[in-house]
Amino acid sequence: MPGTDPRPPSATQSPPPAVVREGGRTLPSPALAEARRTMEICNACRYCESFCPVFPAMELRRAFSDGDLGYLANLCHNCKGCWHACQYAPPHEWGLNLPRAFAELRAETYASHAWPRGLGRVFERNGMVVSLATALCLAAVMILTVLLQDQATLSASHGGPGAFYAVIPWGVMAGLGGLTFGWAVLAMALGARSFWRASGGGAISRAALRAALRDAGQTRHLGGGGEGCNDIDERFGMGRRHFHLAMMWGFLLCFAATIAGTVMDHGFGWAAPYSWYSVPVVLGTAGGIGLMAGTAGLFAIKFATDRAPEATGLWGMDLGLLALLHLTALTGLALLAWRHTPAMGWLLAIHLGFVLALFVTLPYGKMVHGVYRLLALVRHHREQQAR
Ligand code: SF4
Ligand code: SF4
Repeated sequence: MPGTDPRPPSATQSPPPAVVREGGRTLPSPALAEARRTMEICNACRYCESFCPVFPAMELRRAFSDGDLGYLANLCHNCKGCWHACQYAPPHEWGLNLPRAFAELRAETYASHAWPRGLGRVFERNGMVVSLATALCLAAVMILTVLLQDQATLSASHGGPGAFYAVIPWGVMAGLGGLTFGWAVLAMALGARSFWRASGGGAISRAALRAALRDAGQTRHLGGGGEGCNDIDERFGMGRRHFHLAMMWGFLLCFAATIAGTVMDHGFGWAAPYSWYSVPVVLGTAGGIGLMAGTAGLFAIKFATDRAPEATGLWGMDLGLLALLHLTALTGLALLAWRHTPAMGWLLAIHLGFVLALFVTLPYGKMVHGVYRLLALVRHHREQQAR
C-alpha cells in the first residue's frame, strides 16, 4: 500500500549510526538502539505515513525517548506493509526491518514491565516449552488430587447437579482457580501500569478509551486499507484479521461462560453441569470453537509466512500461547462432549490443569500483548484528538 509521496529521501544520504550512544555510553539494549535508528530514518522518509497508526504517532516527535519507542513498538500490529514497501530494506546497506525491530522491542517491553520483574525473561526465551511444561505439571497436580480423592468416584459416570464437584471438590477447584486468576490479574495490572507510566503516563480520557476499545474489538488495523495485511508475503490478505477475531472473541466468550456458570451456581444455586441450551454451555461452545479455529489459523499463517521480517527468535512465546489456548479449548470441548461418561473425571482434571497453566502464564507470555496494545491505542487516540 504505497504512501501519497512516492519519493524517498536521497539514497546518497549518510546512514545514521547503527549503534546509538547517549551521554558517552552505549544504550543498554540493542533492540532499543535499532528501533531508534529505524524511527529516525522513517521520520525523515515518511513514505509509509498512511500505512498504520505508528507513522502519524512518529511524526509528532522529533526525538524518541525509550518510552516513546516502547509505545510505538506496541502500536505496531506487525502487518509488515512497511517491510515490503521499504527502499532501505536489505539488500540496501541500511538494512531496515521495522517489523522485526519493533517485534524485538515489544518483547523487551513485556519483560521489563513484568511483575515480579525477573519472571518475564523466562517466557521471552522459551514460551512454548514453559507453557506446555506448566500445563503438564498442573494437569499432573490435578490428576494427583483426583487420585487422592477416590478411585471409584473418578472412574464412575456422574450425572445431575454437582457432578463435577463429586470428582474434584468445589473448594479445591475454586481455591486453585481463584488464586491463579487473582495472581494473573494483579501481575498484569501492575505491568500495565508500569508500561503506561514509562510511555508517558497521564490521564486516560473516555473518548480515547472508547476509540481504542472499538479499534481493538474490531481488530481494525489488521484490515489495512480494506485489503488486509501482508500475512504471508507481499500479497494482501484478511486471514490474520479473521483468525485474530475468532481467537479474541472466542476467549472472551469462554470467559463470559465461566462468569455465567459461577452466577448460576452460586447466585441461584443451580449447580453444573448444565444443559446444551443453557447460557454457559452455549457461550462456552461458541467460544471454544472460535478459540480453536483462531489459534489453528494463526499457527498455519506463522509457518507459511515469509520469515525475513519476522523475529523468529521470539516465536516460542507466540506459539506457546497459541498452543496453550488451543489445548485449553480442546480439552474444554472434550469435557463437554463426554461429561456424562466415565471419562469425565480425567477430562475434568486435564482441562483444569490447562486452565490453571493459562492463568499462571498469562502475565509472562504473549497474552500481555493485548493489554499493551490497547494502552498504546489509547495513547494514540489521545494524541490524535489533542492535535
Ligand atoms: S519503512 Fe522505509 S520506506 Fe517506510 S518510512 Fe521507514 S524508511 Fe521510509
Ligand atoms: S509492520 Fe505494519 S503496523 Fe508495524 S510499523 Fe510497519 S506498517 Fe506499521
